[in-house]
Amino acid sequence: MMLPLTVPFHPGQNFTSYFSGLACRNFAGNSRNFANELGLKWPDVVGGSDTVIKTMSDLGGIDLATLTAGTMRRVGLREFAVRQEVLGQYTLSRQRVIVCPCCLVDDIAVGRFGGLLDTYQRLAWEVTHIRACTRHDVRLVDLDLKLNHRQTFDFHLQIADQLDRINILAENTSMRPATKLEHYLTNRLAGHRAGLEWLDTLPFGLAAKVCEMLGVVLAFDSRRNLQTLPEDDWARAGDAGFAVCSGGVVSVRRCLEQLQHASPGKRSLHSRMRAFGQFYEWLAYSDADLEPVRAIVRDHIFETTAVSPGVAILGQTRNKAAVHSLQSARNSYGVSIRIIRGIAKHQGLLPEESENIGDAKLLIPAPELASAVAAWSKGITGLQAQELLGVSKNAWWVLQGAHFPPLFGGLGAATRYNALMITDFLDNLERLAVPQSRQAGMNPFFETMYSQQYGVLNALDLAHSGQLRIGWDRSRHGLNRLLVSEIELREALAQQRNQAKYRAKEVAHHLNLTQSATDRAIIRGLIPCSVGATTTGQMVRFVAGSDLKSLQRRFVSLGTLTGKGSSASKRVQMRQTLEKRGVLPLPDWLECSAMVFRRSEI
Ligand SMILES: [Zn+2]
Repeated sequence: MMLPLTVPFHPGQNFTSYFSGLACRNFAGNSRNFANELGLKWPDVVGGSDTVIKTMSDLGGIDLATLTAGTMRRVGLREFAVRQEVLGQYTLSRQRVIVCPCCLVDDIAVGRFGGLLDTYQRLAWEVTHIRACTRHDVRLVDLDLKLNHRQTFDFHLQIADQLDRINILAENTSMRPATKLEHYLTNRLAGHRAGLEWLDTLPFGLAAKVCEMLGVVLAFDSRRNLQTLPEDDWARAGDAGFAVCSGGVVSVRRCLEQLQHASPGKRSLHSRMRAFGQFYEWLAYSDADLEPVRAIVRDHIFETTAVSPGVAILGQTRNKAAVHSLQSARNSYGVSIRIIRGIAKHQGLLPEESENIGDAKLLIPAPELASAVAAWSKGITGLQAQELLGVSKNAWWVLQGAHFPPLFGGLGAATRYNALMITDFLDNLERLAVPQSRQAGMNPFFETMYSQQYGVLNALDLAHSGQLRIGWDRSRHGLNRLLVSEIELREALAQQRNQAKYRAKEVAHHLNLTQSATDRAIIRGLIPCSVGATTTGQMVRFVAGSDLKSLQRRFVSLGTLTGKGSSASKRVQMRQTLEKRGVLPLPDWLECSAMVFRRSEI
């Protein structure tokens, strides 16, 4: 059943002012009386209970869904909800009368009642974070009314004797454009979300507050007293924070990074907290549920600050540190700062130009450092390596230079070598070795290699390919257990040289010919060659070592006969001597402008 006298319900209007309008229209005196007359409990009216909304939808002839959308429903002891937006007690100022005077003047101008009944209260006016009218871009005005018991939540009773004042306020108001945050919040109340990835996921009140608290740090001096911060400054702060928070988590993290970058001092936990100022204090001391924001700041601190395991940040601890400072790494690993720094540098865990960064400011990723320190601690000293290999200090010095690079260089006395690499090396050699007692002609492996100036690993290659036999003397220790025959080694080396390949330049040198004569001889087929590629892919002609040997055996150049670097007159003299004996240069070679003779004829 509908009431005979009704009032319209406007978009953005709140339910209590609709109830107040109906009470006024039906001459009930005030909202409480009206509720009594209708048999409704007053707290249910203020709390927007389902029964009340349903009843008023019927009595006022307003669509139930429309009326529900404008109702601030009590959903907890100190919480209300509009649509799906939950507003906590700090988000609401329902006990004060805050209005946009321009909106009220407009209401009367276009209304059909010609006065008080045309006005209505907006939901947005009850939200503390909305301080300007998004329609008129003017400040909302707190009418600062001392309300008596009957007037609470009775909008029309509240402003009945304020209309003249409201007119004056509307005429004298100055522009204060609504901020982006105020637009965002007003839209959210009306059921429109902006599609912001992070801010939209936060509860209404938290979304507003995080913008303001971060904005306070961005817009003002960190010593500003927030208790006395003017409303306009809060709005400015909210806008500054919204610019960051609307960009999502990435944007917030970047902002935190910039804040700490701008803050002087160490990258210690304490200086972090100082850099984030009131924003951090709010997160640390507020009893509200701020976890979605705390989680971001906490992650940021754990990832960029050396926090010892067990130390809580914003209520939570981590078992493992994400980053270490040199001090915290020293405390964790019991290794000196100098060594930690050396290890981190060697592993590329330090930023560029880390030499110019003081110990206190360096941060090292903890998991990577942990494995690097573990590897370092498994390393052995040079002396231990020398003992393991069973070689003299000199021999070790040669060996490590060629085969065993230090695990971490530049650490002076702390230099370590990979023990695994050394034992692998020994195992490899022993696997190739044939057990035998020391016998004539077999010499200690390493010393022989050393005296022949021949790389140990090259010798190992020879052993692998079966060209060199390695013996094993059980009575000796380390590398010196291994034996090799010096004669066999020489043969193997000679054989290896035969298999070597020579480039034209080297061939010219060995045959004592000019480079161009050699090139032509190769092209004309006088010197056999094959085509190959270098490691860089360039095509080159190779002369096999055995072919070069055979050439040297069969032919001899004039240059070789007179000796390297001999004078031209000496060569002419030699040629004439040979001519007299009937030994003539080979005609094929003359076309290459080289004088070559058969060795057999000389
Ligand atoms: Zn307005």
